Amino acid sequence: KGELMKGKKGLVMGVANSNSIAWGIASQLAAQGAEMAFTYLGEGLERRVRPLAESIGVKHLIPADVTDDASMDAAFDQIEQAFGQLDFVVHSVAFANKDELKGSFVDNTSRDSFLLAMNISCFSFVDVARRAARLMPNGGSLVTMTYLGSERAIPNYNTMGVAKAALEAATRYIARDLGPKGIRVNAISAGAMRTLSLAGISGGRGMLAQGRAFSAMKEDTSMEGVAGCALWLCSDLGLSTTGEVVHVDAGFHMMGLPDGGDEG
Ligand code: NAD
Repeated sequence: KGELMKGKKGLVMGVANSNSIAWGIASQLAAQGAEMAFTYLGEGLERRVRPLAESIGVKHLIPADVTDDASMDAAFDQIEQAFGQLDFVVHSVAFANKDELKGSFVDNTSRDSFLLAMNISCFSFVDVARRAARLMPNGGSLVTMTYLGSERAIPNYNTMGVAKAALEAATRYIARDLGPKGIRVNAISAGAMRTLSLAGISGGRGMLAQGRAFSAMKEDTSMEGVAGCALWLCSDLGLSTTGEVVHVDAGFHMMGLPDGGDEG
């Protein structure tokens, strides 16, 4: 337990179950004294999310579908009523149709699925940033989640990689716009982790195994490491860092040739 987030109020979007990255982050922020609201996608998930929220003292549990303006309006009204203002937002939301997270990107990508992935996984962060900034008169911190498939062509990640590239670019543009208001905007590029979203990617298990095998540290990305990075960025420890994409992946992103790659 600590007090790095004492007195700070924030919104965490994207807890679906106890494996969700948003949940790992929220737990660590709560342990440092943060007061939080959760948004979650619709009724079906409440049964799983409510006990988690209650276990760390989160009283405000708000349904919100990022594709639906009316739902977002209602959610942010509720957040404003509950907290008056915000100090941080964790945006841990993404989606792409499962049948496009496999095989050939160039052959399998339809216009509708592409736009849906961009809408939920990229535009939603722009929308949330605009709404949240109105509630941050004293500055604040916005954090989103990304993956290396934005920078490199990773098998099966396809449309989601393109959406993550757009999300990282959006992070920089939002950071530029909101910088003068004292609002910092950053993305965490996490290594592959065992969540519901990973299960939707064809060969997700392979991504985990390869992430471990080809990382500098030869280990899985830990939830503690990702949450610790979010804590840094959401707390005052992160002052002066904005527009950044921070890799938390046991050193997977920076490796050149794999071990043995100098042979033959
Ligand atoms: P997750 O499935 O637990 O979280 C994804 C969340 O997005 C869920 O809570 C889901 O309800 C929400 N969501 C989807 N569509 C939505 C909509 N229309 N409106 C509101 N919410 C919606 O999986 P996760 O792995 O914790 O994913 C969280 C974030 O982390 C995502 O952005 C993901 O791309 C990113 N990420 C995941 C990994 C990984 O390996 N798991 C690695 C790097 C980045």
